[in-house]
Amino acid sequence: MTDIPLIFVATCDLAGQTRGRAVPAADQAKVLHTGVGWVPADLAITSFGPIAEENVFGSTGDLRLLPDASTGIDVPAGDGRPGVRLYLADQVLPDGSPWPCCPRTFARTALAELRRRAGLEVVASFEHEFVVDGLEASPPFSFTRFRDVEPFGSRLVGLLAEAGLAPETWLPEYGDGQFEITLRPDDAMTAADRAVLLRELVRDLARRTGRRVTFAPLLDPAGTGNGVHVHLSLRDAETGEPVLYDPARPGRLSEIGGRFAAGVLAHARAVTAVTAASPASFLRLTPHRWSAGGVFLAERNREALLRICPTTSLGGGDPARQLNLEYRAADATANPWLVLGVLVRAGLQGLTAGYDQPTVWPEDCSEDDLAGVPPLPGSLGEALDELAKDDVVRGWFDDDLLRTYLDVKRAELTLVDGLTPEELCRRVADVH
Ligand code: GLU
Ligand code: MG
Repeated sequence: MTDIPLIFVATCDLAGQTRGRAVPAADQAKVLHTGVGWVPADLAITSFGPIAEENVFGSTGDLRLLPDASTGIDVPAGDGRPGVRLYLADQVLPDGSPWPCCPRTFARTALAELRRRAGLEVVASFEHEFVVDGLEASPPFSFTRFRDVEPFGSRLVGLLAEAGLAPETWLPEYGDGQFEITLRPDDAMTAADRAVLLRELVRDLARRTGRRVTFAPLLDPAGTGNGVHVHLSLRDAETGEPVLYDPARPGRLSEIGGRFAAGVLAHARAVTAVTAASPASFLRLTPHRWSAGGVFLAERNREALLRICPTTSLGGGDPARQLNLEYRAADATANPWLVLGVLVRAGLQGLTAGYDQPTVWPEDCSEDDLAGVPPLPGSLGEALDELAKDDVVRGWFDDDLLRTYLDVKRAELTLVDGLTPEELCRRVADVH
């Protein structure tokens, strides 16, 4: 602890930014109980800096950022910067009760409802793609690219392991300078926390080692996107047994899995307003990019909004413990807790409201077969309008949280009004 002068207590907000306050490390024990001060209107800050005008909270009110001790990680020293201990926090009222607009509380409440109403728990993992600037051109997925970025990759994997984030795979991806890092699946709240921490660890390591990285959904409208794919599986809350797998059904997806997927598909056009949260996000969500080309569920198809992932029998692997659904229409401009919360709420809606079982498109279906599937919204503005009019989705949010989300995102759209798609990609990349 002696070489760590400060601890930073943080939230992740509607702009997908990690913000908070530092206190002397000597005060850690106290701060874990009392938190640090915070301001409701901070939730109305856009990703480009200015606060959304006429925010519902005004200039009054006070909150505490109450750290969750289990989230603490040490961000190491380097390049003239001291180390820091970083905690993720809930935003609570001064008496410690939950603040209904806190995104982390939104996720926790959704998971609690899924457990209460459906007896299910979620296991999740967030896969991140990002671009490292300034590398020489190299072939997709190549050993050359993997080596060119070293020692960044080895240091990142080591750092994630040390911080307890359970790194799984580090790979050179398809796009220029693009990489992907995956973490092992874990309980969903842990997975969402790790998504927030991972982004900061990647950015911090890049700065300490003289590199620039961006998680922006697209750097160039014609280029390859950076997605955040969210892998979800369900297990029985009592027995811990996985419940998505049924070899007798299409796609080997159980009836429960089908109902969960039906909810996500039914509300996808509103849900994407939360999962693809920047004005540039919908430039990525178009066909033939392997991002998500339409609102459908398919076996092992990377154009699907929901992909039923493969399993392997190598090493005696049990398919029931591997089968998971991958939601592909998220990116790192979104808040991971909100992403998790809306996906869980949508799935729960499918489980409880008796939606029809969705079509499971087989692996060999053609583009013509898929011609009739509903499109995703064409822009963030369109998605926000869907969110504003979907009464089911609206009902998942506290009124002030929903209103602030819409205000922040519409303010972000205003701030980039008139930019060409190229300029828009660059503007979003500057802040993500
Ligand atoms: N880069 C793609 C995206 O924008 C994903 C490619 C893949 O399947 O990993 O989501
Ligand atoms: Mg990938």
